[in-house]
Amino acid sequence: MDRDLHTNMAAIRSKNTKPEILVRHYLWGHGFRYRLNHPRLPGKPDIVLRKYRTCIFVNGCFWHGHEGCQHYTVPKTNTEFWVSKIRRNKERDAKVLHELASMGWHCIVIWECDLKPKVRKRTLESLAYTLNKIFLQDRTVKRYAMPEEEPMMAAEDVPTER
Ligand SMILES: [Zn+2]
Repeated sequence: MDRDLHTNMAAIRSKNTKPEILVRHYLWGHGFRYRLNHPRLPGKPDIVLRKYRTCIFVNGCFWHGHEGCQHYTVPKTNTEFWVSKIRRNKERDAKVLHELASMGWHCIVIWECDLKPKVRKRTLESLAYTLNKIFLQDRTVKRYAMPEEEPMMAAEDVPTER
C-alpha cells in the first residue's frame, strides 16, 4: 500500500481529521457556534450550525472522489475495487445532501485541497461570507420545522490548536 493511500485510510477512520479541525478552529475564532457530527441528521454532518441552518462537510479528496482534483488519483492496484468504492461514497454523499436540502438545511462541502496552506485563508473567508449571507437571507423565513431544541456544545468541546 502506498503512503498516500495509507494516509487517506487513516484519515477516514478518525472523525477529528486535521482539515476538519482547521475549519472548526476558524469558525470558533470568528464567533460561529456549532455542533459536531449531529447524530440525528442524515450523514452525521461534520459541523452543524443551527443558527445558520447549515451543515458543513469537510471531504477528503480521495475518499469522496473530488473530480478534477490532483489529490484524487485512483490507485493502480485493485483499481476496480477503488473505483466502485469511491463511486458508492459519492452516491451516498449526493443522497445525504439531497436529504438535508429537502429538510431545509443548507449544505456546504469543503474539500481538503481547499484547505492547503496557500488557499486556506481564501476558503475560510469565503465560508464565513457564505454563512453570513445565508443568515441574512434566512431571516426572511418565518418558521423552521426543527425537530427539537438541542443544547449548545459543551465548553470542553472547544477546539484547541494542535
Ligand atoms: Zn481536491
